[in-house]
Amino acid sequence: MSEKSTNAEIRVDVNYANDLITDIFKAKSCNDHEARTIAQRLSGSNLVGHDSHGIARVPRYVEWMERGWVFPNLKPEVVIDAGAMGCLDAKQGFGQVAGEYAVDDGITRAKKHGVSVVGLKNSGHLGRIGDWAERAADAGLISFHFVNVRGSLLVAPFGGSDRRGSTSPLAIGIPNKNKDHIILDMATSTVAEGKVMVAQKGGKKLPHGALIDNLGNLTTNPEAMYGKIGDDDVPDPDKGTGAITAFGLHKGSGINFMMEILGGALTGNGVCGALTDKERRRFSNGMLSLYIEVEKMVDIDYFTKEVKSYADFVRASKPSQNNDKVLIPGDKEISTNEDRLKNGLPVPPLVWENIKQTADRLNVENLERFEKAIK
Ligand code: NAD
Repeated sequence: MSEKSTNAEIRVDVNYANDLITDIFKAKSCNDHEARTIAQRLSGSNLVGHDSHGIARVPRYVEWMERGWVFPNLKPEVVIDAGAMGCLDAKQGFGQVAGEYAVDDGITRAKKHGVSVVGLKNSGHLGRIGDWAERAADAGLISFHFVNVRGSLLVAPFGGSDRRGSTSPLAIGIPNKNKDHIILDMATSTVAEGKVMVAQKGGKKLPHGALIDNLGNLTTNPEAMYGKIGDDDVPDPDKGTGAITAFGLHKGSGINFMMEILGGALTGNGVCGALTDKERRRFSNGMLSLYIEVEKMVDIDYFTKEVKSYADFVRASKPSQNNDKVLIPGDKEISTNEDRLKNGLPVPPLVWENIKQTADRLNVENLERFEKAIK
């Protein structure tokens, strides 16, 4: 089924987007591998429908490099190496690269011990956390990823009306022998902050109750997050006075709280708090990941059969009103990926223009590629 495009969006070819974004990060002195990895993970997020963590982030990443919040060409350091347990310090290197090192470390330990627990701290933006669950699933492992976002105070707790936490994503991956993995990947806020950014740029509107203003009223107006800003401005959450709501009432708010403890306090990344000092303000993802090798616990064929049986059972539920069909975690991403690989990434024109302005400022060559990329 083909995805509906809104009039406010253009369709961009993913290969062109990757080349242009690679050139932008090379212009900021990232090496070839790092620049391409950043581009592919960002556009990969668009491919599966998470525009919030896609190419719209490019101007902000460049701005963070200029602020000294993220540095090019860093390899994370293993700071704990204790059998099934490990911890890596990314030292504010790019999360797209640090995430690969951390997950590969967790895979190696779990292959040896059956399970592993690996922390990652001081990481640049880790993007779509489902990427990391997918990488572990490709190696045949179940994984859990608990993430906090230090320096990104955005979320109001249940019953509150001001910012006390981050959007703290949670991902769980279930591997499948035929690579038909099941990936749950979600912010523990009603929406990820990037979805507010996309709405601010004229993209998909926010659902009711996504934001709360500083008077305690629920709203969908991105101004609550960024204040009034011009078309060419990079949305800055520090400029707004409202908050994103935690998902799932008191229970979701409780899970959001625990992400901060596991991804922030336990990894050594640090938790969100009053943004009074420079250290707390700097953006960094902390991620605590658990890995389980299925075969060490249960016969893999039995597991695969049981998972499929349950997934089919759930998908067969009679759709409720206004619902076409029942999905399980990851179904939507798989169908979106098929459509976008063929038809291109839907992007608000303003997002594409902002990336072009960034490329222009950095003297990236052949800017006519921005027009050629539009399908
Ligand atoms: P979302 O609400 O679109 O999807 C959440 C989960 O629900 C997914 O597993 C999806 O498959 C499932 N889902 C979606 N529609 C469904 C339906 N109709 N029926 C059943 N299941 C359904 O995602 P989100 O919470 O907006 O998160 C977006 C992205 O933001 C994620 O990739 C997340 O990792 C990322 N994120 C990253 C950070 C960071 O700091 N790096 C912070 C927050 C969020």
